[in-house]
Amino acid sequence: MSAEQFDVIVIGSGAGGGTLVHRLAPSGKRILLLERGDYVPREKENWSTRAVNLEGRYNTKEEWRDREGKALHPHTNYFVGGNTKFYGAALFRLRKEDFGELKHHGGLSPAWPISYEEMEPYYTAAEHLYQVHGNRGEDPTDPPASAPYRYPAVSHEPRIQQLSDDFAGLGLKPFHVPIGVMLNEQNPRKSACIRCATCDGHPCLVNAKSDAQTICVDPALEYPNVTLVTGAYVSRLETDASGRRVARVHVERHGAKETYAGDVVVVSAGAINSAALLLRSASDKHPRGLANGSDVVGRHYMGHINSVLMAVSKCPNPTVFQKTLAVNDFYFGAPDWQYPMGHISFVGKLDGDTLAAGAPAIAPGWTLELMGKHSLDFWLTSEDLPDPENRVTLDRDGRIVLSYKPNNEEGHKRLIAKLERLMQQQTKCAVHGHECHQGLFSRNLFLGQRIPLAGVAHQNGTIRFGNDPKTSALDANCRAHEVDNLYVVDASFFPSSGAVNPALTIMANALRVGDHLLQRLA
Ligand SMILES: Cc1cc2nc3c(=O)[nH]c(=O)nc-3n(C[C@H](O)[C@H](O)[C@H](O)COP(=O)(O)OP(=O)(O)OC[C@H]3O[C@@H](n4cnc5c(N)ncnc54)[C@H](O)[C@@H]3O)c2cc1C
Ligand code: SF4
Repeated sequence: MSAEQFDVIVIGSGAGGGTLVHRLAPSGKRILLLERGDYVPREKENWSTRAVNLEGRYNTKEEWRDREGKALHPHTNYFVGGNTKFYGAALFRLRKEDFGELKHHGGLSPAWPISYEEMEPYYTAAEHLYQVHGNRGEDPTDPPASAPYRYPAVSHEPRIQQLSDDFAGLGLKPFHVPIGVMLNEQNPRKSACIRCATCDGHPCLVNAKSDAQTICVDPALEYPNVTLVTGAYVSRLETDASGRRVARVHVERHGAKETYAGDVVVVSAGAINSAALLLRSASDKHPRGLANGSDVVGRHYMGHINSVLMAVSKCPNPTVFQKTLAVNDFYFGAPDWQYPMGHISFVGKLDGDTLAAGAPAIAPGWTLELMGKHSLDFWLTSEDLPDPENRVTLDRDGRIVLSYKPNNEEGHKRLIAKLERLMQQQTKCAVHGHECHQGLFSRNLFLGQRIPLAGVAHQNGTIRFGNDPKTSALDANCRAHEVDNLYVVDASFFPSSGAVNPALTIMANALRVGDHLLQRLA
């Protein structure tokens, strides 16, 4: 059976695949984008915390296994735009130092095969493409940038501004989170974004979030040379007899089997699914999995050490759009701790329904609803290190198995302790006046919640890039060392993960690989 032929096939339409297709679309090359999911339906439930967080309306119903063989229900989403449809759109660059080797308490964070300077122009391009709003230079750990943000930072609401002032009073350098929402605060009537409370974790009902579908896939589809096929689950990649070229892409679609062929095949199915796809594509020429002579495919899974920490106070927190403030003062350590600790920012405002899904211990005398009304909801991220035993494998039935043992946790614990101390030092309350505020923070309750294994939002590292084919699967252009026409552009390529959200780095790298592919195809 002959397969339909394309110049480039891209598998997965999220941060990596969607951005790459956008870059390649104007070239006139025949491009096929294969996406297992469909479009997120536009419906009222998009903005329902109950439907999204409690009922898991948009989560995949797929079941994976953990290393003990127990069922794992991953918090991940299969739709056009991938997980960017649901992300909080906090779009950070890795720090310059993250590209080099960094000593952590738990071991070494390895260097990348490319420098920050090589990535910098693509970070700028990705920030412009995804309409990132921010203030350059506020963050003391910000790497050098060749251009300012094109859009002003999203302003803090009063409670968050007050917290920012208090942090600054304590000698920190709080800053505005760089964020990809189409918000025009100067002209609210013309603003696509309405600054609502259901952004982080939710699809945007009014298409005002800078996600990969809205920003990249839909505009790319305006080009007649770009085709999107949804509902297209890529089950296997088959090489030619030499084993050096992917010859066919096997797809299962609405119960039928289809095959496609491309001069270049780019895998971008997310770090876990991409590794699983290469492992499923084992053959005589690639007995351990496609492009896996190094045996690294599936290994070094990282997902960050993430915690949600609610600082509950007697004073309510009426903030609607909470994810505007961050602190990186402890990113590389502190005077009393020489190792990196990580990043402090916020999740979207939590409410009772959201808290009911994975409920923390309820503070005495409080309901979940009340806690949600009175909490500042911090998100803390620290770097986990690439351990070869933390890995994606397949069980006998071909199901994904995710084995993960946390590491490098001490810095994270200390980061939490730092935040607790900072919250105890709060001195004033602008919302209810000084009277109300007195003694308030001495009665704060800190309720920590570590994100469980199923929380694979920041998955990365499973098909690492590097210069040495013995220790990496991809070269510095994200091309498989062993397969000439195979590339990977999702979060799999990370050799280390830093401690900021990953999406902007995935997008920037996709633009970088896009330029390489344009040269190759020319
Ligand atoms: C709730 C939430 C909040 C987040 N907030 C932030 C944030 O604020 N900032 C940030 O930087 N990051 C955030 N992230 C993480 C961010 O969304 C991811 O890092 C990013 O989307 C990963 O991009 P990717 O290209 O690697 O994979 P994805 O975006 O997941 O794309 C993979 C695509 O491949 C498709 N696919 C999978 N398997 C197959 C197959 N076999 N065949 C065909 N298609 C397939 C999937 O359906 C999906 O569309 C968040 C994630 C979540 C879930
Ligand atoms: S309207 Fe704005 S804040 Fe609300 S979901 Fe859309 S992008 Fe996010």
